[in-house]
Amino acid sequence: MKRDPRTIRLVLWRALKLQCPACGGASIVQRPFNLKHRCTVCDTIFKREEGFFVGAIMANVVATEVFILAIYFLLLFSTLSEGVTFTILFATAIAFPLLFYHHSWSLWLAMDHLIEGLPQAKK
Ligand SMILES: [Zn+2]
Repeated sequence: MKRDPRTIRLVLWRALKLQCPACGGASIVQRPFNLKHRCTVCDTIFKREEGFFVGAIMANVVATEVFILAIYFLLLFSTLSEGVTFTILFATAIAFPLLFYHHSWSLWLAMDHLIEGLPQAKK
């Protein structure tokens, strides 16, 4: 299958839908918390090399910290007690990285695709 031109809007939209950033024809997720090695439609390689996804992990950590900070500032204006506030922040710190896991990988793949283009498997 022919790969589409790399446009920021299109690639980011595919990343949000957890689709291949190159063709948009297949999901990047094999099963929960496990990505496919390559696209089943266009053969774009998702798992390029050891350590490639350290950036995805970092993106997940940074997004979690920003989200917790946003929640914290919102809760500053509430009448909740300190104990309840910290319980909410703790629960957010546990849940958010799990819920954002696939999207952090997908966004990392999309960014790499936009910058240099993901490689295709040789046939
Ligand atoms: Zn593809």
